[in-house]
Amino acid sequence: MNRILIAEDEPRIAAFIEKGLRSHGFTTSLAIDAKSTADMANSSTFDLLILDLGLPGKDGLEILEELRGQGENVPVIILTARDDIQDKVAGFEAGADDYITKPFRFEELLARVKARLRNNPSKQATESTVIKFGNIVLDLRTRKVKVDEETIELPAREFTLAETFFRHPGQVLSREQLLDRVWGYDYDPGSNIVDVYVGYLRKKLGGNLIETVRGMGYRLRT
Ligand code: CA
Repeated sequence: MNRILIAEDEPRIAAFIEKGLRSHGFTTSLAIDAKSTADMANSSTFDLLILDLGLPGKDGLEILEELRGQGENVPVIILTARDDIQDKVAGFEAGADDYITKPFRFEELLARVKARLRNNPSKQATESTVIKFGNIVLDLRTRKVKVDEETIELPAREFTLAETFFRHPGQVLSREQLLDRVWGYDYDPGSNIVDVYVGYLRKKLGGNLIETVRGMGYRLRT
């Protein structure tokens, strides 16, 4: 399954894109400002970024230039109300792969998303599709988890949370980092959703797998 990061600060548009992409089988995360967009895009766990240019904190073009400067080669589709030819040229020069102007039809966005993912076979070829850790194997392509040869189905958020831990074994991940990477929303930091989901993973994958680091967050035990 392909993971798409949507950087969009307008809730109505963000919800429209997320709903549409999810109904077509994509996994989506949402970033609503410049900082979370840059942080999440840099985590290299996304197959595509849909980027609004007018984001709080920093202009989308600047974010894109910085990402490319850091060697992040995730495909980027700019989705913006700026429809001047100069804006489009600037977008491509900053490193965009495609450019769609608002207002837009979902069908067109979907077609371009699919085309962009088809055109990016290098990532699929070079990136391993399984992550192994001890007796557990995560298959990123089928989104299935095997524990001691037994296949366990995890709902999307739980799978993404597990994937985030497995990509950073031994590293302490704060609740804020996990919220950012897995939920992508500006959740209330007082929310206990991360703790609840860590509880689900412990129940399904093994109680000792993820340890609580008091006052800091969680860590995949190595
Ligand atoms: Ca905007």
